[in-house]
Amino acid sequence: MTVEAGSNTMNDPIFPVPKRLLDSKSSPTPYVDSFEKYQEMWKQSVEDPDTFFTNLSKELLSWSKPFQTVRSGGFAEGDVAWFLEGELNASYNCVDRHALATPDKVAIIHEGDEPDSVRKITYRELLQEVSRLANVLKSLGVRKGDNIAIYMPMIPEAVVSLLACARIGAVHSVVFAGFSSDSLRDRIVDASAKVVLTADEGKRGGKSIATKRIVDQAVANSPSVSNVLVFRRTGAEVPWTEGRDLWWHEEMAKARPYCAPEPMNAEDPLFLLYTSGSTGTPKGVMHTTGGYLLGAGATVKYIFDYHPQDIFACMADIGWITGHTYIVYGPLVLGATTLLFESTPTYPTPSRFWEVVQKHKVTQFYTAPTAIRALRRLGDKWLEGYDLSSLRVIGSVGEPINPEAWEWYNEQVGKKNCAVVDTYWQTETGSIIVTPLPGAIATKPGSATFPFFGIKPVILDPTSGKELEGNDVTGVLAVGQPWPSMARTVYNNHHRYLDTYLRPYNGYYFTGDGASRDKDGYIWIRGRVDDVINVSGHRLSTAEIESALILHHSVAEAAVIGGHDDLTGQCIHAFTTLKPNIEDSEGLEKELALQVRKVIGPFATPKAIYCVSDLPKTRSGKIMRRILRKIVNNEADQLGDTSTLADPSVVEMLIDKVKQSS
Ligand code: ATP
Ligand code: MG
Repeated sequence: MTVEAGSNTMNDPIFPVPKRLLDSKSSPTPYVDSFEKYQEMWKQSVEDPDTFFTNLSKELLSWSKPFQTVRSGGFAEGDVAWFLEGELNASYNCVDRHALATPDKVAIIHEGDEPDSVRKITYRELLQEVSRLANVLKSLGVRKGDNIAIYMPMIPEAVVSLLACARIGAVHSVVFAGFSSDSLRDRIVDASAKVVLTADEGKRGGKSIATKRIVDQAVANSPSVSNVLVFRRTGAEVPWTEGRDLWWHEEMAKARPYCAPEPMNAEDPLFLLYTSGSTGTPKGVMHTTGGYLLGAGATVKYIFDYHPQDIFACMADIGWITGHTYIVYGPLVLGATTLLFESTPTYPTPSRFWEVVQKHKVTQFYTAPTAIRALRRLGDKWLEGYDLSSLRVIGSVGEPINPEAWEWYNEQVGKKNCAVVDTYWQTETGSIIVTPLPGAIATKPGSATFPFFGIKPVILDPTSGKELEGNDVTGVLAVGQPWPSMARTVYNNHHRYLDTYLRPYNGYYFTGDGASRDKDGYIWIRGRVDDVINVSGHRLSTAEIESALILHHSVAEAAVIGGHDDLTGQCIHAFTTLKPNIEDSEGLEKELALQVRKVIGPFATPKAIYCVSDLPKTRSGKIMRRILRKIVNNEADQLGDTSTLADPSVVEMLIDKVKQSS
């Protein structure tokens, strides 16, 4: 099979590396400053990974005991291991060594929910806090290998929590603090967490969140939990269970501000993290210490071209893998200053991101297409007057970024002077796997471009499983050989790990995403394989049709799915949200259908277009097309796991809209 190639792979514009990046007067010289150098390094990384990753692991990590074996195992058995005999501690690597070398350097800038609330924490302070909390956890009986649940707002204590667990070899499982008590309970129970770290309340966009109450409901049905440690964030009255609940400040005051880091084997688990749940029930992905940490550090160094004076701002939540790798472990392992953002892109106004960039002189800025599209929708005036000249690299992650949104980001935020890195990866990959490198790779809007070091991407024919060689091919995206930061298992469910990633195509890691390699060898992520639409034998990618819709000046966001059709097998249904002050009308819907027809071809003309007030999204901001598919196909009674839906009320609205139109 092939997916029809749309127009944007044919004559897509190419953006060269911005001149400013290569000009050593205005910015530091990129680590990789030509395409040739990238190719040479990439070739070595996949042909001789032992040498490449041995060198990198010595450069970026401190080992308390060196390894002898670089890697073992493989995809066949799902027994991949890296740096086998090596010992290291993630918290030592992220904190101690920098606290010794640069104690007064700011490790964390906390931009609180209110714009005037900023807290800065140096590496020296971070070491004391992490040590204290590690000692508190020990005093609660937490031992190496125990699982700890973290349900915290975006405050420095959240970062301290992750690192304190790592320090004593406890395995953290962070649950996004926007999840309901049921979702939290499921994750606590699945991991048999012993202790829950939380806060009295959260603050987001000026609103209070009853964090502790949610924890109480979750813990009431979680027999494994012996203690709940509560950080006082707002001072609100909270329900209290004597004997189980403890105040953070009281316990911390008793604890010694130094705790020796536990030596961990490279393959000891570092954390569990549940996937976003876009396609079904979330998976409890497990990452190990050595390989994960190396992937985190290497990608921050090369993909964000991190240099020691930089201020690194990843705007994700710590509850997602992006927050783990690009707020906590990646920047801190390199001794960087990392920014932690507690608020939302629109609080108190849609200028908030740009205010943050200006105030803290942010050099790397990393967000998701959902935020970029939302800000683009609200108009350019919110960026006016802000000095964004500190920025060098701006990144996107989480979903395919529509070329229109990419260009807006490049022009309005990057001022055509920054590298735009569209980074493709997954909870399971641990760190970015397909991406441009700022000083080396010319970009095409909508393409994640080329593989990172150690990644051998392959495009497979979905039916035969054969590798599609050469350029100008489309199929499913897989990876040909193990890399250090890949997930090692699904917690307590190795079968699911094998069945989901390693068995669908023998000898490969299967991503579940469709992709093309265009005539120039650029990789384009086409969306989830499950979302591919088949109209009269034409296989169409959701990403492409959605991008065609967003090209229209009225459209803010689009989601496209396949409905049953007796004649054509499937037909296209398109859901769109409109920009402010634009009225839905039959004329507009016709125009949008015409737009798709023009950009992609008559066979891709949507059968129905629905202009709606919102799309169903995961709490991490990804569009959940499976919900739309069920609604259109009259299966709204079988929506499956909807616990990861950000706003459950959209379902009713969508059902009504579809009913009205039919
Ligand atoms: P679940 O696995 O539970 O269905 P999820 O796949 O949304 O949830 P994540 O691990 O958070 O969970 O997301 C990874 C997915 O996000 C990728 O498989 C891909 O579909 C999408 N994605 C991430 N970055 C990009 C990108 N730059 N371009 C295109 N798609 C991306
Ligand atoms: Mg996934």
